[in-house]
Amino acid sequence: MADIIHIDGSQGEGGGQIVRSSLALSMVTGKPISIENIRAGRKKPGLKRQHLTALNAAATVCGAEVEGAELGSSAFEFKPQKVEAGEYYFSIGTAGSATLVLQTVLPALMLADGPSSVTIEGGTHNQWAPPFDFLEQAYLPLINRMGPSVDLSLHRHGFFPKGSGKFTAQILPCDQLHGFDLLERGSLTKRLVEALVANLPASIASREVRTALRLLCWPAHAGKAREVDSVGPGNVVMIRLDYEHVCELITACGRQGTSAEKVAKEAVKEAQEYLESTAPVGVHLADQLLLPLGISASQGFGGSFRTLELTQHSITHIDVLQQFLEIDVAVQSVKDSGEVVVSLKPSV
Ligand code: ATP
Repeated sequence: MADIIHIDGSQGEGGGQIVRSSLALSMVTGKPISIENIRAGRKKPGLKRQHLTALNAAATVCGAEVEGAELGSSAFEFKPQKVEAGEYYFSIGTAGSATLVLQTVLPALMLADGPSSVTIEGGTHNQWAPPFDFLEQAYLPLINRMGPSVDLSLHRHGFFPKGSGKFTAQILPCDQLHGFDLLERGSLTKRLVEALVANLPASIASREVRTALRLLCWPAHAGKAREVDSVGPGNVVMIRLDYEHVCELITACGRQGTSAEKVAKEAVKEAQEYLESTAPVGVHLADQLLLPLGISASQGFGGSFRTLELTQHSITHIDVLQQFLEIDVAVQSVKDSGEVVVSLKPSV
């Protein structure tokens, strides 16, 4: 077996992404890992339910030997075996993000030797994680551009605090990930403000849509308010911007004690930052694209994208990738714009 890779979970951002990406990369490369200081950068460090589910899911998919897989654990060891395509079901048991669990096992399954179906229960629309719609509309179209075919279906929305959302990913794998260069957006083809409510007054969603449309100076037909099924109450505002080459989806989640107008304003503020630049890749998509493009580079392809200033998540993610993969990552500033071009290439 390959030498064990030691990961310091307190590096850079010091959050859950270091854990999930290390697992994903361990599964793809077959390299065992030992990780300590898990989520040391967070108020309550250690494995939370979402991270533990991701760890157990990863272990199930590749029959890994694991030590330290416990709630609150600050360290674990993970020795992967062969990745098995198949039908999987994982449940977080809280409102922890189900999309982040999918992103942990997806890279290995999209390079597996057969199709898979993965059903996950938990939160589908969380404040600090990619919402289901982001995965479906912004992230997966780019993943599918690299070769696999990943298709999502949402069975039930899940919001904090009740969770119990559910979706299924159907994954048709490919042999290699063919990266791409994503340097321009192309022209705008569609824009939409969509607000969802579950088990709350419908007026919350219509106030959010009204507020967002007014602040963005968009016409009424660019807004939609919808009631959805969920086990508990929930509310999310999503601003979708479709361009020829990329889709960006910005979200803000409603919460007790925060007015519908304030939630809408939060989403608009982030949308305006994206609209004021011309970079195709937004801040969240940037840190999530690094992993598949890094794997692609390690297979002899790679790619590049233009984005806004790199977040601590992205900077940390680049460091984690380089601990596993023989790749070169270059970050070049775009003159006078605050933007950067990130290129991931096979190591020379
Ligand atoms: P933590 O360790 O912070 O408790 P975590 O395990 O949820 O949390 P992070 O390391 O913070 O993980 O990673 C969160 C991931 O969710 C990042 O990839 C980030 O880009 C993504 N994300 C956060 N908010 C959004 C959003 N609104 N839209 C899309 N992706 C998001």
